[in-house]
Amino acid sequence: MKKAAILAQTKEGQLSEQTRQLVSFVSAFYPDQIKLLILGDVKFSTVSSSVPVDLFQLSADLYADSDSIATIAAGLDNFSVFGIKSIQIDNMLSLLAAITKKDMISGIQTLSYSSDKFSISKSIFSGKASLELSTSTASFFSINRNFDFSQISEYSELALKSSSSVEKTNTNKASIVSIKPITGSIPLPDAAIVVGAGRGLKDPGNWTIVEDLAKALGAATACSKPVSDLNWRPHHEHVGQTGVKISPNLYIACGISGAIQHLAGVNGSRIVVVINNDPEAPFFKHADYGIVGDVNDILPRLTKKLQSH
Ligand SMILES: Cc1cc2nc3c(=O)[nH]c(=O)nc-3n(C[C@H](O)[C@H](O)[C@H](O)COP(=O)(O)OP(=O)(O)OC[C@H]3O[C@@H](n4cnc5c(N)ncnc54)[C@H](O)[C@@H]3O)c2cc1C
Repeated sequence: MKKAAILAQTKEGQLSEQTRQLVSFVSAFYPDQIKLLILGDVKFSTVSSSVPVDLFQLSADLYADSDSIATIAAGLDNFSVFGIKSIQIDNMLSLLAAITKKDMISGIQTLSYSSDKFSISKSIFSGKASLELSTSTASFFSINRNFDFSQISEYSELALKSSSSVEKTNTNKASIVSIKPITGSIPLPDAAIVVGAGRGLKDPGNWTIVEDLAKALGAATACSKPVSDLNWRPHHEHVGQTGVKISPNLYIACGISGAIQHLAGVNGSRIVVVINNDPEAPFFKHADYGIVGDVNDILPRLTKKLQSH
């Protein structure tokens, strides 16, 4: 049987909540030991898992160091490697898959394991359809951010079994000149909650009600294409067929009609809430929850309610 490795995401020097959930989830079918690969310069002494965890670290200045990545890849023979989807994790998973010449599956919505086989469902065609597949050959797995970990009841604290790290070599074929962390806003593809707004906001000056709601929820902000075409919002916020694809746990769409091109970028969201003053707006057909009302009324009320909790 293969062993398991997890590419860990960190947040403020700690394992992210979703990485902790992934460790618990994966340990259900790999009970012997899990190798945790930490990307970045993070220090901590315990991880949450019901199985022994072997820690392995790649410091930030070695992300583009081909020899260091090759060293990691060499240590992953006979491993199944998992990560929660993000730009950084997907880059590393696909690099490792290419070096080891193994298959990678991304966009995973559900995953189970039995008799050395993974059964997987993943979204395809911009989230309009779901593909069911089973594989015993793929070794690299990128799990969607909105993967349902609810079957994990709890996770226990456990001391690390051992710790090692990749040392810098003198034969770098590539090196990182500088790293500029994204500050201020949450990157859209990585956001767990997104508040999106469309032409129904009427004027760029009205965006404070969207930003206030996003702040109260710890969410990223997004917009429809016409809004970025009008320069009301920056282009990197434009979601849809021709923009960013998002897969948050919660997407709140405010004053957006729900055109098919917009839906193509947000279909991967777990829960969709639509706020629109037109009860016939097409978006309501794709919503889990709908509020018929004026954004200028509903958004400040929602924000106030959240702030009072
Ligand atoms: C090739 C192509 C690619 C495209 N790619 C994209 C894409 O990637 N992403 C994208 O978003 N679009 C894309 N579009 C455009 C898309 O077809 C729609 O035109 C666009 O999504 C509509 O944006 P909207 O919903 O913000 O505006 P509108 O269609 O104008 O809708 C505004 C909505 O706001 C509601 N509203 C108005 N006032 C209020 C109020 N006070 N309170 C609450 N609700 C209110 C209205 O009822 C309406 O439903 C593309 C189009 C083409 C042809």
